[in-house]
Amino acid sequence: MENLPAARTLILSGIYQNTIYRTIRKIKKDRGWAMEMRIGGKEVSSPDDAWIEVKNPATGEVIDRVPAGSDGDVADAVDAAGAAFESWKKKGMRERGIILFHAAEKVRERHRDLARLLTLEQGKPLREAIDEVRGYANILEYYAGISAQPTGDAIRLGAAGDALVVREPLGVCGAIIPWNMPVLIMGWKTGPALLTGNTMVLKPASTTPLTNLHLAGILEEAGLPPGVLNIVTGSGGVVGEALVKHPEVKKISFTGNCTTGRRIRELASAHDKDLALELGGSDPMIVMDDADIDKAVGGALRGRFYNAGQVCTAVKRLYVHDKIAGEFMQKLKARISALNVGNGLGPKTDMGPLNNAEQRERIVQIVDTTRERGDGTILTGGGVLRGKAYESGYFYHPTLVTDVAPESCLVTEELFGPVLPMMAVPDLDTAISMANTSRYGLGASVWTKNIHTTKRVFDEVQAGIIWVNRHLTVPPEVPFGGVRESGIGRENGYHAVDQYSRTKTLFLGW
Ligand code: NDP
Repeated sequence: MENLPAARTLILSGIYQNTIYRTIRKIKKDRGWAMEMRIGGKEVSSPDDAWIEVKNPATGEVIDRVPAGSDGDVADAVDAAGAAFESWKKKGMRERGIILFHAAEKVRERHRDLARLLTLEQGKPLREAIDEVRGYANILEYYAGISAQPTGDAIRLGAAGDALVVREPLGVCGAIIPWNMPVLIMGWKTGPALLTGNTMVLKPASTTPLTNLHLAGILEEAGLPPGVLNIVTGSGGVVGEALVKHPEVKKISFTGNCTTGRRIRELASAHDKDLALELGGSDPMIVMDDADIDKAVGGALRGRFYNAGQVCTAVKRLYVHDKIAGEFMQKLKARISALNVGNGLGPKTDMGPLNNAEQRERIVQIVDTTRERGDGTILTGGGVLRGKAYESGYFYHPTLVTDVAPESCLVTEELFGPVLPMMAVPDLDTAISMANTSRYGLGASVWTKNIHTTKRVFDEVQAGIIWVNRHLTVPPEVPFGGVRESGIGRENGYHAVDQYSRTKTLFLGW
C-alpha cells in the first residue's frame, strides 16, 4: 500500500498520457485503492465493502470508486462535526477567515490538477473546470475578506437600557450538492457556513465526489481543524436522507432538482430544521431590437452551452424581437454548428459530454417528443453524437430549435442540457408575459440599450437575479437564489452570512 499516495500524486500531477493513466488505474484496480470519505479529519473507508464507481463521462471508463456510505457514517460525521463545533465557534471570525484565505491560496497553487480531476469526473472542458476551481478560491477569499467586518449591533434605548446584538452560528449544518458545478456549489455552502463558526457534513453527488474530497483535504492542510468539515459519500436516498433526518443537524442547504427538494422539505419540516433550497431554473433571455446582436448571440451561446447546458441559471428559453429574429437565428446557428464537442481534456474542446447517462436520456426524450409532436423546427443538432470518439461517452449535439410551441416540453420542462428553444416575439409586453409563464424563477436577462426596457424587465420578470446584456455570471459578492419553484433562501454575499447564523441579544437594563 505504501506506493499508493505516490500513485495518487502522480494522477494529480497533470501527466495524463494514456499509458501512465492506464498503469495507475491498473495498480488501483489490483490493490482495491479508492478515494475515501473524510470524517473527523481522517480518511474513512467503506466498512462493509460497498462502493460507488465514478466514471469519466467522456469515455464511460471507471476512474475511481468511493464508499457507499451508510446511516452509521452519517452519524459518525455528525458526531465529529458536533465535537468540533464549540472550539471552532469560539475562534474569532478573523481567525476562521485566515484559514479560509490560506485554503484559497492552496487551491490556487493546485488549480490545474484539481481542474483536471473535475473534468475527469464531471466532463466539462478543462478551461471551464479551471474557471470553477478558481471560482472556489474566489469564494473563500471573499468570505475571508469580510471576516474583519463587524457583525453585530449596539442599540441605545434611553432609559430602558442598551441592547447588544450579536450573530451566533447555528451548529452542525448539512450540505447536499449536485454534480453540475460541484466545486462552486461546495464553495457557496462551505464559505459562509465555516466563516460564521458552523461545522458541516457535506454529501457530494455520487457521480462527482472526487474533487470535493480533495478540497476537504486541502482545507485541513490549510489549518481547518479536524471535524469542522466532513464529507460522506453515498447515495442520496441513504446518506442524503440520513443527514436531513439527523436530530443534531440544525440546517440543511440543498442544491438539486425540484423533486428531491420537495422530499427534503418534507423530511426537514418533520425534523424541525432550518432549510435552504436551491432548485432548478428555466431562465428566459429577452433580446430586444435595439440590442447589440453579435454580443447577444455570444451571450446566448455561452449562456446555453457552457457546461453542456447543465447550469441552473443557463439560458433555457430565448425570446428575440421579430425585427431581428432572422439575423439573430442565422448568426446563432452558425456559432452553434461551429462548436467543437469532445473530451473535456482535449485542447480544442468547446463543449464536453453530459455528466451521466440518465441526464442525456432525459434530453434525448425531450427533443424526440418535440420532433414527434411537431412542436418546433430543429435548425441544428437534435441527436446523440455518433462516431468512434463519442461511442462510450454521454455526448449530445448542441441544438437550436425555433418556432417552438408555447406548450412544448422544451419550454415547460427544465432543459438541463445543450438544447436551446428560440421564440420570436412582437414586443416587450409579449416577451415579459412569456418569460413569466415558467413555474421557475431563478434568473433572467434582457439585452437592450434602453433603460426603460431594463426597468420594466427588472420590475416585472419574476426571478432572483436580472442581468442586463449578460447572463450566467454570479460572483461571490452577489446574492443568488430563486423565487417560485426555484427554491427558498439565498446563497453568496453577505446574505449568506445571515443565513448561517442567528441573532442573540444582550439587553442591559442599567
Ligand atoms: P438531484 O436532486 O438528483 O441530486 C442532488 C443531490 O441530492 C445529490 O447529491 C443527490 O445524491 C442528492 N439526493 C438525491 N436524492 C436525495 C434524497 N432523497 N434525499 C437527500 N438527498 C438526495 O439533482 P441532480 O443531480 O439531478 O442535479 C441537477 C439539478 O439540480 C437540476 O435540476 C438543476 O437545475 C438543479 N440545480 C440547481 C441549482 C441552483 O442553484 N438552483 C444549481 C445547480 C443545479 P446522488 O447523487 O447520490 O443521487
